[in-house]
Amino acid sequence: MNEKFWKLVEFLIENNDFYSEILRKVYLESGNYSEIPFLTRWDIYEFGLSGTKSLVSKNLKIGYIFSTGGTTGKPKYIAYTFDEFELVSFYLSKCYDSIIDSDVVANLFMAGNMWASFISVNKALEKLGCTILPISGTTSIELIKDYLEYFRPNCVVGLPTQIIQVVSEKTDFLNKVYYAGENFLENQIDFLRNIGCKLIKSGGYASVDADIIAYQCDMLDLNQHHIFTEHQFVEIVDIENEIVLDEKGKVGEVVVTNLDRYLCPIIRYKTGDLAMWIDPKCSCDKPAIQLMGRFDDWIRLASYDFYYQDFAKALYPFQISLKINRSKNLITILIKNDEECKKMSKVEIIEKLKLVNWQLKEGIEENLLKVEVKYVQQLPMKNKKINVIYE
Ligand SMILES: [Zn+2]
Repeated sequence: MNEKFWKLVEFLIENNDFYSEILRKVYLESGNYSEIPFLTRWDIYEFGLSGTKSLVSKNLKIGYIFSTGGTTGKPKYIAYTFDEFELVSFYLSKCYDSIIDSDVVANLFMAGNMWASFISVNKALEKLGCTILPISGTTSIELIKDYLEYFRPNCVVGLPTQIIQVVSEKTDFLNKVYYAGENFLENQIDFLRNIGCKLIKSGGYASVDADIIAYQCDMLDLNQHHIFTEHQFVEIVDIENEIVLDEKGKVGEVVVTNLDRYLCPIIRYKTGDLAMWIDPKCSCDKPAIQLMGRFDDWIRLASYDFYYQDFAKALYPFQISLKINRSKNLITILIKNDEECKKMSKVEIIEKLKLVNWQLKEGIEENLLKVEVKYVQQLPMKNKKINVIYE
């Protein structure tokens, strides 16, 4: 571990109740970084601003407090000093490296509700000297379309689901698209290219709690990113046994340590994102990862690894959930009752699946994975859509 990290440790030993003892032991005894326990989102609930506050350092002035949502409906908050937040927008501006001062940029990230994304992106755009339209994805679709038509920005930044709802043949003035938070599907990318978007690029890989982690250079593919090594220390950890994976091509959970966050420290934080180290085809001096989806979407069945996203991709645009029966190695695809989809035979669906993931292909062909299709009136819902159900 580098000097920057140990400087953070020295501060936390003196100023952070949660980390004081944990880090003192590691610092004074072994000096072994990997003895520091993982930080989970539950720890942030319990010991952060929504809980005991022992994770919040003393002797620092809180600048911003942001809500980082969460899946249980219970609010989770994270705080930054102004200097820390300034640094986030600095690294974010590096992600938007093709935006120049003559660009007119529509910011469609979600504003309000104590969310960080809109504000941090806006600050990053300011650094690039472009003209900014601070529209926000919380504005009605019709109004967003009106703003776009009137001001004719050449660049849009936002979430794919927001962007795809407001672009059309009419928005042929757009030539740059930066997105974050989720991925575009391949046919959405084709659509954007067809209407004239030459540059479609990730606006960086970030976690809501850990902030910006990685950026995409021009040579990398859509899910590939270089780590901001001066800002974050990244590990990829095996999902089952939590052993750190250094080999390329092995998928595990992304675990990050933010080297600049003193107020709400993020040390060995389990992001819930899956990725693997890759050999990038560029000559940048930063290590690169390929993102493989969310931890919640990962499925291992009969020793085959595949993802909910594989099925979503193969069956796009139909809405689906998956039911997994481990004892029978059976995947049941639940499809929201749709006449168009019913025109597709099971054989066709399976052929599409075999194209998106070679492990699915092998498992199905070896008859070790079984797939069945069911049409349902309603997909399983709770607070949000449940993608994968185990039975
Ligand atoms: Zn590169």
